[in-house]
Amino acid sequence: MATEVSGPAKSTELWTRRHLLDLEHLEPWEIEAILDTASAFREVSERSRKKVPALQGKVVVNLFFEPSTRTRTSFSLAAKRLSADTVDFTVSSSSMAKGETFIDTAKNIEAMGVDIMVVRHQTPGTPHILARKLQCSVINAGDGGHEHPTQALLDVFTIREVKGRIRGLTVGLIGDIAHSRVARSNIWALKKLGAHVIVCGPPTLIPRSITKLDVEIAYSLDEILPRCDVLNVLRIQFERQRGGLFPSIQEYFALYGVTEERLRRAKDDVLLLAPGPINRGIELTPGVADGEHSAVLRQVTNGLAVRMAVLYLVSGGQPRSAAE
Ligand code: ASP
Repeated sequence: MATEVSGPAKSTELWTRRHLLDLEHLEPWEIEAILDTASAFREVSERSRKKVPALQGKVVVNLFFEPSTRTRTSFSLAAKRLSADTVDFTVSSSSMAKGETFIDTAKNIEAMGVDIMVVRHQTPGTPHILARKLQCSVINAGDGGHEHPTQALLDVFTIREVKGRIRGLTVGLIGDIAHSRVARSNIWALKKLGAHVIVCGPPTLIPRSITKLDVEIAYSLDEILPRCDVLNVLRIQFERQRGGLFPSIQEYFALYGVTEERLRRAKDDVLLLAPGPINRGIELTPGVADGEHSAVLRQVTNGLAVRMAVLYLVSGGQPRSAAE
């Protein structure tokens, strides 16, 4: 399968990052290296014995302060497939409920010999603070409305797998751009790999500051639809909104909902992504979510390989390719 390689040849580059905090500060070749390494690991998930010894003896902790289904399970399973020991830490059962500070909690967990901390927190920048305060590697599994690097990596991995390239594609990010960490991380990854990005949604859900990221802004889905190679349909982040940003869910659905009827006006081979959880009947119809253009479950499968690659690289592994 053809893949784009941006920047210096990956074989001559050494991976030196101990953390994955955001995509904004990654070089294009580093993103390519993660995708290539993920391709190599994808094959492991297809074996009958789905395990390699790459992280044997290492300890990976999931430290999640926000709800998660896919991301937490995916990181746990990825770490197990690399033979690491894993611990899931939940806020409600922790001493934070007794008043311990976030940093104290993290330092105490680290003192048990943790090598990699996977953190999700409602406050933007939390993983960055932890990376400064702790000795172990830190991976951002979503920090408020800021970034969700591994989600965007699995999105671009899936696009590259289906389309064979990223460069030159037009990708529409649809919906709640303002509150979406997935949108921000996607923009960084897609721009660095040479895609044209259109953000499309109601004006109240598209922040003005987004113009700095060199994306096209659109308010009509019907207008941009025929130009898009990929649609990434974002969930409305009700939990991060203060309300009143659009008149009603029915109106939102009428203007921005991805329906079978709308998809007939898109390219024949348009690829549909959605980070999940999907709200059937709000951002897209059940028929579209389960239809021939949808890669929703493929994204979840690919997420495992991408997270194996990230865990492997931050713990000192070097980029691989599927051919190795
Ligand atoms: N699961 C993704 C996230 O944690 C997307 C979403 O929740 O809408 O950001």
